[in-house]
Amino acid sequence: FRHHPDLISLSTFRRWMLERKLQDAEVPAEEQNNILKHLEKKETEYMRLQRHKMGVEDFELLTIIGRGAFGEVRLCREKTSKSVYAMKKLKKSEMLRRGQVEHVKAERNLLAEVDSAYIVKLYYSFQDDEFLYLIMEYLPGGDMMTLLMRKDTLTEDEAKFYIAETVLAIESIHKHNYIHRDIKPDNLLLDLSGHLKLSDFGLCKPLDSSNFPNLNEPDYTPGKGAKPLPDNTSRLTNSSAPKRTQQEQLSHWQKNRRMLAYSTVGTPDYIAPEVLLKKGYGMECDWWSLGAIMYEMLVGYPPFYSEDPMSTCRKIIHCMHDIGFT
Ligand code: ADP
Ligand code: MG
Repeated sequence: FRHHPDLISLSTFRRWMLERKLQDAEVPAEEQNNILKHLEKKETEYMRLQRHKMGVEDFELLTIIGRGAFGEVRLCREKTSKSVYAMKKLKKSEMLRRGQVEHVKAERNLLAEVDSAYIVKLYYSFQDDEFLYLIMEYLPGGDMMTLLMRKDTLTEDEAKFYIAETVLAIESIHKHNYIHRDIKPDNLLLDLSGHLKLSDFGLCKPLDSSNFPNLNEPDYTPGKGAKPLPDNTSRLTNSSAPKRTQQEQLSHWQKNRRMLAYSTVGTPDYIAPEVLLKKGYGMECDWWSLGAIMYEMLVGYPPFYSEDPMSTCRKIIHCMHDIGFT
């Protein structure tokens, strides 16, 4: 036996070891019994967990409810409990390619750890050879991006309500020493009763300014050969293209919005300048994004709206320069 430990099951081996130990230590018979019983109980529990390793086959896949850069999100039903969840599927090779593995791990943990009414709940996560799966609570109210596209603007009271709940969501992740960095309307989901929850902890697209290249090159650095911005109003319209009316900007923004959301680059509209410039950032960057969202709720498009993502980035960076921060 000693030479072939793999010929018996591990649990038999553990029992044998424990029996030997108990004999050597001269433990009274009754106590020996209790200890062995305790071990047995633990072994059965362990076996049950081992037997039930969760996988995709435990879920009935229903309709696709969302799509992001890499994530496909589906409605699904757990076969045993019949409970409905949202299943987010992330391609592992894609995460590896983008060097996001550590990020994904940290964020999966955060999602599992934070217990807040304003954060989408994560129930299970598992993987197979190709994908990582996140089983989350299903929020049937849609996302804020869709709501904003449908409504153009919100009333001040509506905006106040959603912004207040987003403040609570941001606070709860900051309390866990975590910075979201990618707070935007697409990641604010609504539940059945219209309450808001924050989701998508950058799982497959943590914001990375390498998505928006050349920001540190002279051309984009404030004050160094950058295109001068003539006056304050031009910054909020478009500095290079002919001026658009507010209505034109709104419809252009809405036309492009969904496309931007699905692109791998994402939209830079809500990103804080220090995140874009990779100059080191703190929790403030999430409050910056919140401000940009509030502006969009009230005006119809975000504060640094532009025809193309690069000039949005430029506007964001210039804005800090102009108010004397850089
Ligand atoms: P990505 O990181 O690719 O942007 P998200 O996690 O943001 O992926 O999901 C993409 C979209 O799927 C969201 O904008 C939302 O519309 C939908 N979605 C995501 N999670 C849920 C959920 N738990 N309940 C309902 N819809 C969801
Ligand atoms: Mg998203």
